[in-house]
Formats: sequence, C-alpha cells, structure tokens
Amino acid sequence: MKDYDIVIVGAGCSGLSLAFRLINSAYSVCLIENKSVTNRIRKTWSYWDTYKHPFKHLDKYTNNKLSIHNNNSTSILDCSEHNYCSIDSDDFDKHVLTKIDECTNVEIMFDTEIKEIITTDNTYDIKFNKGSINAKYIFDSRPDRRVIEMRQIFKGLFVRFGKQINNFNAQLMDFTKKSEFHFFYCLPMGDDMYLFESTYYTSMKKDKNKMTDEVHEYIKQRYGNEYSVVREEYGEIPLTTNVKINNKNSKYINIGIPSGATRASTGYTFLNIQKQTDEYIKKLNGDTYTEYSDTFRSRVLRKMDNVLLQIIKDHPMVSKNILYRMFKCNDSKRVIRFLSDKPTLLDILLIVWNMPKLIFIKYAIKSFTTRSI
Ligand SMILES: Cc1cc2nc3c(=O)[nH]c(=O)nc-3n(C[C@H](O)[C@H](O)[C@H](O)COP(=O)(O)OP(=O)(O)OC[C@H]3O[C@@H](n4cnc5c(N)ncnc54)[C@H](O)[C@@H]3O)c2cc1C
Repeated sequence: MKDYDIVIVGAGCSGLSLAFRLINSAYSVCLIENKSVTNRIRKTWSYWDTYKHPFKHLDKYTNNKLSIHNNNSTSILDCSEHNYCSIDSDDFDKHVLTKIDECTNVEIMFDTEIKEIITTDNTYDIKFNKGSINAKYIFDSRPDRRVIEMRQIFKGLFVRFGKQINNFNAQLMDFTKKSEFHFFYCLPMGDDMYLFESTYYTSMKKDKNKMTDEVHEYIKQRYGNEYSVVREEYGEIPLTTNVKINNKNSKYINIGIPSGATRASTGYTFLNIQKQTDEYIKKLNGDTYTEYSDTFRSRVLRKMDNVLLQIIKDHPMVSKNILYRMFKCNDSKRVIRFLSDKPTLLDILLIVWNMPKLIFIKYAIKSFTTRSI
C-alpha cells in the first residue's frame, strides 16, 4: 500500500485548485477522480475580480458594466473597479494538468472510484476499485449526497452572429414575467462569441429542451435568426445554507461545494474555492488560518441567504423586485462586495435596510422556527 501525505478526492475545481498550489511543495500528493480525463464537464466560471488568485491569466473576457432588468426598468452595476471576469474550465484543466504532469510530487488517477475510507490511528486507508493507498490528510470534494431542495438550474448557448453586433449589453439578470424566479443572463465571451443563458432558482425539475427553446426565442427576438450555436452548457448548482463545517483539528477536510464554497443565494463558487484553498495551504504550513465557512461574516451571510431563498421559494415574483431593488438602491461597489462574500457589517445593514422591510422581517422571524434551506 503506497503512502501519501495528502490525498485529494475529486479533480474538479476545488481538487485541482488545491493540487496546483501543492505542486513542488514538500508534500506527496495523490488526486483521485472517478471520471475519465476525456469526460470532463466544460463550465464557464464568472466572478468579480475581488481576490488575487493564480488563474487570473486564464480570464477569457472581462466586463466593466453589467445591467439588471425588471419590469421595463434598468439598473447598471458598475464593475470598473472589480471587473466581471470569466474563465473557461477547459483552459483551467489544461493549465493545471500540464503543471501536474511536469512535477514529481503530485500524481493523479482518473477512472478511480473510491469505495471506502477507513480511519486508522493518525492516517486514512483509502480503498478504491484498483487497490488502496494511505494518507495523512484527506481533502474531499465529492458532492453532497443529501437531497438539496433549491437549485440554480441553467441552460446556456454560446453563439456567433452572422453580422456585427454593436453595443452588446452584458446582462447579469433580465427577469422575465414568468411566475417563477427566472431570468436570462447574457455575456460577451470574446472572439465574437456570446453566451445566452436561461436560469431558474427552483425546487422543481426543469426540461432542458424547453430551456434551450427559451434561449433561442430570446436571442431571435433581440438579434434575429442569423446566428449559429458553437456549444452548449447546462448546470445545476445546489443552493443551500446547510454546509459541512470542518473541524479545526481534523485532517479529513471537506472542500468545494459541500463545504460551503457555494454562495447559497447566488451559486457563485469559483472565487470562494480560491479563498478556501489559500486558507488550507496556510493550515498545512502550520500558519494561522480561518475555516472559510465558519467565520462570523459567513454565518451572517448564510442567515441572510436562508431568508432570501425562503422568499424566492414562496414568493418568486416578489423576490425579483427585492433583487432588483438591491441593485437599484445600493452603490455598485457595495453590491459587488456583498455578492463576492466580502461585505462589511455596514454593507449588510444597508442592503437589508434598502429591502422591502415587511416581508424580510417576516421571513427573518420565521427562519428561527423553520428548517433552513
Ligand atoms: C455549468 C456550470 C457553470 C458554473 N458557472 C459558475 C460561475 O460562473 N461562477 C461560479 O463561481 N461558479 C459557477 N459554477 C459553480 C462551481 O464553480 C462549479 O460547480 C465548480 O466546479 C465546483 O467545484 P467543486 O470542486 O466543488 O466540484 P466539482 O468541480 O464538481 O468537482 C468534484 C469532483 O469530484 C469527482 N467525484 C465525484 N464522486 C467521486 C468519487 N466517488 N470518487 C472520486 N471522484 C469523485 C467528480 O467527478 C468531480 O470531478 C458553475 C457550475 C456549473 C455546473
């Protein structure tokens, strides 16, 4: 049985982000991934540039202005200080896997399904379909098996137009009149390519084909029929405030989505994974670190997100107005700090203050007696 200092389960965004930072370190590292290297889901990770991370050079496109539309009203989010950036996960995979290939201390095993992890004294025995290995630390990014009630479900089309598109408006949210919490998301992606996405926050199943039709209809109404689809993207992001908080003394550490890297009210995860990973590198180095999901700020944000998700679930139409008002009534920098998990206490207070108070207070009180989402 081979011994490693660190075993990382899952070679997705969080597993590879951690492995990348451990390249050429003193640790022996093994990454275990159950899918094959040729069967990776391509994703576009967008985020506001509010935190330094080692993959910045992979940004495909950046926007300095986003618009939000609701009931024929428009609000502009000024992103000139913190650009809205997008990374193609294919570029990320290529970059990290090449670096792993070139180094001697990190190994990666694809097509390897974990069967069992047994704790023995101070180490872990990891049993999988092809054998077993030993590790001092485990970082586990496998998805949560619990049933998560609310999801962000989206279907996107990357398109190229047969004509020049002038003054394309990058839209964070174009709320529709549907009786559900639904909006279109539209971004220029560089190389004359544009992403159009139909997005729901819902506890229901959604028909992918219908969502594709919605996107086509949206594009045709605004830009005509002259376009071709380059590729498609589908995603379901669990939206929950019930996260796995790691024990500070444990060497079995959950990372990525199940450990609270996903912001429950927005689905944004990529940048939080980068912050979380940097903290665990400090932990491995024996430095003072913070448990990403266990800070005062993250607990306050989870409470607030729980209230927002309950309102979205029960009153999808009202919640579109609430979200729209957040953009309309607050300074852009404050909103970006809030959406990027970096709000000050004053930001949080002002954002709550600018919300319709009656419904927010009602659901805040209710949240003490109901199970959180
Ligand atoms: C299409 C899409 C678009 C997104 N866009 C954005 C965005 O714009 N901005 C943003 O911030 N976030 C976005 N997200 C959310 C989030 O950033 C990603 O889901 C991110 O990939 C999460 O990283 P992770 O490591 O937690 O999970 P994953 O990347 O899913 O990694 C988990 C890995 O574990 C592997 N695994 C599972 N079970 C086992 C097992 N038993 N043994 C071994 N390996 C196993 C899986 O195959 C997978 O590779 C998006 C998500 C999707 C799906």
